[in-house]
Amino acid sequence: MHYTSKLPDIQTTIFTTVGNLARKHDAIDLSQGFPNFGADTKLIELAAQAMRQGYNQYAPMQGYYGLREAIAHKIAKAHDHEYHPESEITITVGATQAIFTAITAFVHSGDEVIVIKPAYDCYEPAIELNGGVPVCLQLNSPEYTINWTAFKKLITPKTKMVVLNTPHNPTGRILSKDDMQKLEDILRPTNIILLSDEVYEHIVFDGKDHESACRYPDLANRSFICASFGKTFHVTGWKLGYCAAPVALMKEFQKVHQFAVFCVDHPAQRAMAEYLEDEEHYLGLNSFYQQKRDFFLKSLESSRFKIQPSEGTYFQLLDYTQITKEGDEVFAKRLITQYQVASIPISSFNTNQEDHNVLRFCFAKKEATLEKALEILCKL
Ligand code: PMP
Ligand code: GLN
Repeated sequence: MHYTSKLPDIQTTIFTTVGNLARKHDAIDLSQGFPNFGADTKLIELAAQAMRQGYNQYAPMQGYYGLREAIAHKIAKAHDHEYHPESEITITVGATQAIFTAITAFVHSGDEVIVIKPAYDCYEPAIELNGGVPVCLQLNSPEYTINWTAFKKLITPKTKMVVLNTPHNPTGRILSKDDMQKLEDILRPTNIILLSDEVYEHIVFDGKDHESACRYPDLANRSFICASFGKTFHVTGWKLGYCAAPVALMKEFQKVHQFAVFCVDHPAQRAMAEYLEDEEHYLGLNSFYQQKRDFFLKSLESSRFKIQPSEGTYFQLLDYTQITKEGDEVFAKRLITQYQVASIPISSFNTNQEDHNVLRFCFAKKEATLEKALEILCKL
């Protein structure tokens, strides 16, 4: 049988490749971004209760209304921006589906989409599957900031969308108010849609604030805000997320959503709606993860890694140039096979697979797990 691949250059994701190797070598896994501790038993009980109460059939296409209301309330409180739960919020299968659906709903063949690199790996395949063309801007290194002058130069009449991610995976950088205002000024005279991936919205450190695109009126009017309950509530396996956008954008989004998935896991939505009632369940996350970041970094002070503390997300990049001259994929592999610690080499997220000799470590782990890994990392 003959067929032409729609994604001829796409390989198995680095998360799967590294994860499989880590399991084979029984390595301490700080690679893929997920917690190795349990979710709140209250949340689990709420989901079980929803199933027992009989919420086991399809939810409404846009999502359970009570959850959409809870999300609208949460966003209004955090960012002083009102989304109408009836028409401007959709519950999705994680942020991944929100991102894929927004891109599919708007990107036509030949449209350009600006992507900031290093970038999480689901943006470009979605753009390409829809016939779009990713136009990439590499962050300045080693500080990982956006060169807004270079960004502006990438805009052409074909630019349909910009994909932004703050807090940023994999660098752990966050965008500042100044960044967001610059973006707002650049996009103001255009029709460009902003896809704002904010899955780590509740993991920001050192008292800083998450600058959601919806805080900026001209950005809010053109944005899809994509979020993930998996990240926020330690349940990545639930694949539950949401997307918020102004009604005209959301209408197009839902045209795709209703045929791609129609609706999302109903009992999980019921549980989440109730769990969101107590805002401490998510407002406490910054300090919960800051403690883990600080623990991780304090122990690494005696190591040969060069460190720029993560400002948000549960990832820390470590520059290993004082340890070896190997490429990041080679070193990451050797760390697994020889030392039994797994991390993510990030060259595959960079423009032209540029290798900056840094690895990404996930610190969303139990202290005992981090301790074991740190003991090894400090001896390298
Ligand atoms: N965006 C970023 C930046 C991520 O790190 C991830 C990984 N969870 C996602 C989107 C996807 O989120 P979800 O698991 O909710 O689909
Ligand atoms: N978001 C997770 C990470 O960055 C990975 C999710 C996945 O494997 N696709 O590690």
